[in-house]
Amino acid sequence: MAEIIELDNGIYARIVEGLTNSGIIVGPSEILIIDSLRVPSHARDLIDDVKRISNKPIKYLIDTHSHWDHSWGNEEFIDMLIIGHENCYKEMIDGNWNKRWKEKILNANDPWSDEAQLVNITPPNLTFSNEMNLHFEDKQIILKYFGKAHTSGDVFIHLVNENVLFTGDVTQNKGIPFFGDSYPIDWLDTASGIINVQPNIFVGGHGPIGNYKDMVDSIEFVDEIINESIKIKSFSTEERDKMVKDLTSKLKNKYQEWRKIDTVESSISDILSRL
Ligand SMILES: [Zn+2]
Repeated sequence: MAEIIELDNGIYARIVEGLTNSGIIVGPSEILIIDSLRVPSHARDLIDDVKRISNKPIKYLIDTHSHWDHSWGNEEFIDMLIIGHENCYKEMIDGNWNKRWKEKILNANDPWSDEAQLVNITPPNLTFSNEMNLHFEDKQIILKYFGKAHTSGDVFIHLVNENVLFTGDVTQNKGIPFFGDSYPIDWLDTASGIINVQPNIFVGGHGPIGNYKDMVDSIEFVDEIINESIKIKSFSTEERDKMVKDLTSKLKNKYQEWRKIDTVESSISDILSRL
């Protein structure tokens, strides 16, 4: 069930436990959505929820990044401006990228797997490289790119006056992000860019909303797992196995309350393969 939280005047987080979050920004005469979710039917549920908040038209959609669970509902927004980073666009038109993800989703036998087969992957139609200012009626929205991280095209959406930041999957409140498409070294630099924004509230792509301290905790986790993996990488293959096991149990113990902590060992091997 979706929980809709009004963070500030006209700024909503739509939190869906166990699935994917989105943002709803309502201006005086139009609406902007952040992330279209995993399949068109999920996007339509999101649009139905928007209609319960406001009958103003949806004019913009922003993709935080290219991953299927955030952007495969895009086809429901085809007539609107769909904004994303230029690398997000490149990933979404990459045939191998799409094929790999479709196979993974179809083979997972999840409730949305059959529908995923029919998805018409729809990339952004307006892209930017470093920063975009959106003078969205009464709100100033800055879209920022700090470099590669969770993917090559992660976008941060900053509502400047309200100091709310939507972070996609780069930071999640007490959750382990997916590292399989990541750029570990770049992620460390990108994280310092987000820290400098110092939002009061952040909304990650999964999990509950968080405050600035929660965001710093999330970044500290990422710093730790990446920096420890870099150390492991410098050892021989035979030596690495035990080091991975030791790091896994250390992180499982330290972050035992976090969502997806069971994936931490595969996260380490994903990072090692991407270094
Ligand atoms: Zn993602």
